[in-house]
Amino acid sequence: MLTDIEIAQSVTPEHISAIAERAGVPEKYLELYGSHKAKVDYNLLLDEPHTPGKLVLVTAINPTPAGEGKTTTTVGLADGMRKIGKNVVVALREPSLGPVFGIKGGAAGGGYAQVVPMEDINLHFTGDFHAIGAANNLLAAMIDNHIHQGNALGFDVRRITWKRVVDMNDRQLRNIVCGIGGKVCGVPREDGFDITVASEIMAIFCLATSITDLKERLARIVVGYTRDDQPITAGQLNAQGAMCALLKDALKPNLVQTLEGTPAFVHGGPFANIAHGCNSIMATNMAMALGDYCITEAGFGADLGAEKFLDIKCRLAGLKPDAVVVVATVRALKNHGGVPKAELNEENLEALEAGLPNLLQHVENITKVYKLPCVVAINAFPTDTEAELDLVEAKCKELGVNVALSEVWAKGGEGGKALAEEVVRLCEEPNEFEFCYEDEAGLAEKIEAIAKRIYHADGVDFTPAAKKEIRQLEDLGFGSMPVCMAKTQYSFSDDQTKLGAPRGFRITVRNVKVSAGAGFVVALTGNIMTMPGLPKKPAAENIDVDETGRITGLF
Ligand code: ADP
Ligand code: MG
Repeated sequence: MLTDIEIAQSVTPEHISAIAERAGVPEKYLELYGSHKAKVDYNLLLDEPHTPGKLVLVTAINPTPAGEGKTTTTVGLADGMRKIGKNVVVALREPSLGPVFGIKGGAAGGGYAQVVPMEDINLHFTGDFHAIGAANNLLAAMIDNHIHQGNALGFDVRRITWKRVVDMNDRQLRNIVCGIGGKVCGVPREDGFDITVASEIMAIFCLATSITDLKERLARIVVGYTRDDQPITAGQLNAQGAMCALLKDALKPNLVQTLEGTPAFVHGGPFANIAHGCNSIMATNMAMALGDYCITEAGFGADLGAEKFLDIKCRLAGLKPDAVVVVATVRALKNHGGVPKAELNEENLEALEAGLPNLLQHVENITKVYKLPCVVAINAFPTDTEAELDLVEAKCKELGVNVALSEVWAKGGEGGKALAEEVVRLCEEPNEFEFCYEDEAGLAEKIEAIAKRIYHADGVDFTPAAKKEIRQLEDLGFGSMPVCMAKTQYSFSDDQTKLGAPRGFRITVRNVKVSAGAGFVVALTGNIMTMPGLPKKPAAENIDVDETGRITGLF
């Protein structure tokens, strides 16, 4: 069996100008980065009149650690739609170097459903993440310099919330002491690094609708507090202009192609725990402007990814989705039915059936809470047996759930035609899209709405620290913002061992923090890692490059 990178390298991609022409991008908006990557100038959205196409979200059941094939399905579905004659554009997140070198690997799809050049997309790409890191670290340098130069704004150095970032899994940097070395080397304090994709700049970047909007958001970032609890913003440090200058090219969506030549934007990549986990609004808007259909993905399972896509991104961007695809795999369903990870490759119909409630609850959330048309895509793995695939399909049909078998990993767009037909049909259905909660609700009320309606928890317990912080944030005027839940992706609950569709549990909110520039309040449940570490055997050990510059070992 060929690996993802071997498959990707076996296909000769078209010149990116041909892909741009297919997508309908006028040449004057195209900025070439070599032959197979380009940025598309955002002025396209301002200059050219357009009717937005349909918006299709790909999400999933609660995943196993390997991921359940959302990106693969997103790419394959788009290729399948093109096979049935539709004008479609993909919108995906850019991968972070952390997972690429860690456990999960890259994020350019898999098998015959990939975006290329996958080597570039997974490593550096067009440099957006470096620009985001630079903008983030410029602000950090300006904060410490401000304190060193006399601290006119009155920072409480124990309450600086802005961290430096690097796009690497590097646990060594989680907690540091900086500014040591005497009077000329700054003011000593405890600090720490986050991974770039967990930074607020990344979230802001993905929610910005224009350069002006980006700059205003950057100015609103709360970077720390004074001794009497007043927030200090990036705007008070006059950092927003220079930060925005560093980001001006990065903000232009990156155009690439699928293995079958379907246009794909790959742009922005916020974490789906501390942030909202989907590609940039710029890229989504551009894909909708150019395509009759935009197929996009949200990170993690639907309890986190879809919830945030719908309640944060769609709310802030004024988007209304037309259909939702919930990806399920036999492997993950068996896992939810009690089978340990090591035995997921063996047929087990009982466990499979026992795991189905996880899938059904996600589907019900989409159709009943958000009132959106939904189809289950069964992402077929080589290890799945015929009996297992038939069982999931039969059970879904029995319960009146739309379902389609997706074989895009093995067959590319050809294996995605059935799913494509179903998605096209669903997009024609009228829908009464609703959010899970309204803007006017208080922060605690919003968190409770998500916990009860999406997670099916009995209620929420707020720690005293969280209660106090909520009160403060509401007093400061942040109460009308949507909430970004930081929770484990493996369970509907905040306990990653509770698989399936658990009942009789409560969610504990440990603390909340405002991302004022992004425009949401993060609610932290459990311990959320904003700087991951590498595993015992990092994927990096298998990655190499030969004399000709050909890369191996990426997946
Ligand atoms: P997600 O977007 O849900 O995190 P990906 O689409 O990135 O998942 O897929 C995760 C990994 O699983 C990739 O390495 C991909 O090649 C592999 N994969 C996805 N679908 C299949 C499949 N049907 N059969 C085998 N491997 C698959
Ligand atoms: Mg993915």
